[in-house]
Amino acid sequence: MGDVFAHGNFRSVSQLSLKVSEMQQFFGLKVTGKLDSETLDVMKKPRCGVPDVAAYSTSPGNIKWKKNRLTYRIENYTPDLSVAEVDNAIAKALQVWADVTPLRFTRIYSGVADIMISFTRGAHGDGSPFDGPGNTLAHAFGPAAGIGGDAHFDEDETFTSGTSNDYNLFLVAAHEFGHSLGLGHSKVPGALMYPVYSYTDPSSYSLPQDDISGIQSLYGPNPDEPEKPRPTPPTTPNACDPNLVLDAVATLRGELMFFKDRIFWRSDPWSNTPQQYLIRHFWTDAPVDIDAAYESPREDRVFLFKGQKIWAINGYDVARGYPKSLSSMGLPESVKRITAALYDQATGKIYLFVDKMYYRYDEQTSTIDEGYPKPVEDGFPGVAGKVTAAFQFRGFTYIYSGSVIYEFSLPTKRFFRLLNNNYFLPC
Ligand SMILES: [Zn+2]
Ligand SMILES: [Zn+2]
Repeated sequence: MGDVFAHGNFRSVSQLSLKVSEMQQFFGLKVTGKLDSETLDVMKKPRCGVPDVAAYSTSPGNIKWKKNRLTYRIENYTPDLSVAEVDNAIAKALQVWADVTPLRFTRIYSGVADIMISFTRGAHGDGSPFDGPGNTLAHAFGPAAGIGGDAHFDEDETFTSGTSNDYNLFLVAAHEFGHSLGLGHSKVPGALMYPVYSYTDPSSYSLPQDDISGIQSLYGPNPDEPEKPRPTPPTTPNACDPNLVLDAVATLRGELMFFKDRIFWRSDPWSNTPQQYLIRHFWTDAPVDIDAAYESPREDRVFLFKGQKIWAINGYDVARGYPKSLSSMGLPESVKRITAALYDQATGKIYLFVDKMYYRYDEQTSTIDEGYPKPVEDGFPGVAGKVTAAFQFRGFTYIYSGSVIYEFSLPTKRFFRLLNNNYFLPC
């Protein structure tokens, strides 16, 4: 008997470790098979209950509905929202998919629909109990008869219809209906089918390209001519794009961070595999589409710039008292945005670039140094265009102008060589 138990224990431990490894692989974390703090952070985030690995491995099998006309039924309502708000969120979430496919959805009010929609809590009879507030928000079943296609929403969550963060029913439902139609989870941060919930303004929602490609590979495009041309779907930036112009580059405790649109890559300089993340998954209150960033090792903070505002980031949080204004650094009101920021490790001075000019800021006195702004050419001879990003690394200063990087020694103003984006951000 003791043997059996020992054996059983051993097996469950190694199965857990295998599950953890698979999950770490999916999210691009360091694969250790152990529940380290980085893995636990990901596990605690609000997310969909459909398993990543299982769903991912079945999706190439192309399980899909054999018909384009599907029915749905809303079996019950959440008290969090009015009946009309729920009806609208569900209809709009299905329309996201109908817009880009031949699929058409009809609501029925009795009987069994292809997609049965319900709000429920705890164990609810399908072997996948919900877990109370947070973490698992909902789950759905892929195309099949019976429970297939059905979507369940965790009633222990608070669902919203507006712009507040936790948890917009339309966004959660649109993701779940992706499963109802046969999609698994996407590894692309920013895709609707990414398993972790992230807030996007629902009023201007546009289905990302990764999801359009996924659903059209199952059902094909929408044969009906759209009445007005659709806006270009959002894509997740690609490090391999030779014309990629980064928003900002900064160091963070020895790692490098490359910002673009809603995402950033984080790269440990000794490894060749930068990982991509959504900015909002790291810092809920941070801005996206930033203009500039720098790390102050003295304050152990990263500063993000967007428009005339500055955010200070401390670990996972926006520091108290932020955002502040650009003028709090002594910049004139006429500066509407900066285009790059650089922390000089030797002097502790901060270089703030505005296109082809730059200011130098003294952190200790909180003022702009005398004699600035100066033309970029003065401090960085040879830089022809506007400065779009800048950082220091291993004693060298790197100035980005579009997709090229100039390598300098700051004290001697000596230019060494021209590099391209993937020197630091391999793809
Ligand atoms: Zn999901
Ligand atoms: Zn369920």
